[in-house]
Amino acid sequence: EAVSSLVKPKDPRKLLIMVNPFSGKKLGLKIYDGVVRPMLERTGTSFQTVLTEYAGHAEEFVKSFDFEGTGTTGVVTVSGDGLLFEVCQALRSRPDDVFGKITLGIVAAGSGNGLAASINHYIERPTASAVDNAFSICRGRVVPFDLSSYEVAGGKKYTSFLSLAWGIVADVDLESEVLRALGPLRFDVYAVWRMLALKKYSARLSYIDEEGGDMPALSEPVPASWTTIDDEFACFWAVQTSHAAYNMYTAPPSGLSDGKFRILVVRKGAGRLSLLRSFLAFETGDHMEQPWVECITCTKYRLEPTSNNSHLGIDGEEVEYGPIQAQMEGSKTTLYA
Ligand code: ADP
Ligand code: MG
Repeated sequence: EAVSSLVKPKDPRKLLIMVNPFSGKKLGLKIYDGVVRPMLERTGTSFQTVLTEYAGHAEEFVKSFDFEGTGTTGVVTVSGDGLLFEVCQALRSRPDDVFGKITLGIVAAGSGNGLAASINHYIERPTASAVDNAFSICRGRVVPFDLSSYEVAGGKKYTSFLSLAWGIVADVDLESEVLRALGPLRFDVYAVWRMLALKKYSARLSYIDEEGGDMPALSEPVPASWTTIDDEFACFWAVQTSHAAYNMYTAPPSGLSDGKFRILVVRKGAGRLSLLRSFLAFETGDHMEQPWVECITCTKYRLEPTSNNSHLGIDGEEVEYGPIQAQMEGSKTTLYA
């Protein structure tokens, strides 16, 4: 006993594990029971677990959870990106500035798993493996992690760690819910269909890459120093980590805390075949070499859709449709990686 405590100091962490049994192909519980729980137990990590019972449950729970009283130092979701998104909205709404004190973690159990894939890429384990994610959690290495702040019409705010999708990407992500039983394949099936019946998505996009400076109110015009594009877009995808899904290496230059948005834009001139080639190239990152793909690096942007025919998805979760703007806030929190 004395020797083993010398060899292995007791892990002072206490984790809140939140499992979405509904994630992906409903594998959340299997991955928790088969991978996460045994690894946490064998590494002597203290934790308590909550299974979510409905959409919004994690947000409600974290809003009023007693972090200090329970000595909880981290929140880990076994889920897709959606459950961690809920956790982030709850943490942001708390008056006790808990974001700076709590470490976040995720184990891939959903359909897209953008953050889990980005973490595995960061630790040079380029797989979609939940075991690798659980290893990161148990090892306990903490790295800085960027958050961004979104504002939609009406003033509602969201905290994001992954992406904003609009146009075809949002349509594929959010309308393909009906194909949930297919697992990740649902995105491919739906993407091909949406590309064949490609809509015209028009918008004004404004952005700037600057450190500091204030975000204008959504009702105010953007400052003259910003760049503005009025166009039709075949693709609009703003991301802040390397992977937007396990098979989408959307922003090779992005890390977990590089402080930038990367907006992938394909404008209307590109045509269906080019768009299809970009979707296929997302898996390897080769789209960055395609002349019709623009990658805009910025710290603030505003998207004002002028066609009323799509969806907006922050981190894969649908939000109010209309003008939306975002500001990179930088490493406001930390992550197990
Ligand atoms: P996926 O990657 O498959 O979309 P997510 O973890 O992102 O998996 O979750 C998808 C949605 O499920 C989120 O909107 C989340 O709020 C919701 N959700 C969480 N718990 C439950 C539950 N118990 N039943 C139904 N939906 C849930
Ligand atoms: Mg999701």
